[in-house]
Amino acid sequence: MKAVVDKDLCTGCGLCADSCPDVFEMQDAIAVVKATPVPANAEECTKQAVVDCPVEAIKVE
Ligand code: SF4
Repeated sequence: MKAVVDKDLCTGCGLCADSCPDVFEMQDAIAVVKATPVPANAEECTKQAVVDCPVEAIKVE
């Protein structure tokens, strides 16, 4: 699984980095993906981050 953050949509709320810190981190107030591919043990929180992101900026493929 790969996760992608759309930098144009991300508002920098920090939710994904808080809930799934093995995959997302904040850089200059924008979330970036630091683990590609997503580690198996972090797939669930990655999927949850997709659902929880208030602006639907996270996609998985
Ligand atoms: S949850 Fe969405 S808007 Fe918030 S930091 Fe993550 S990608 Fe950006």
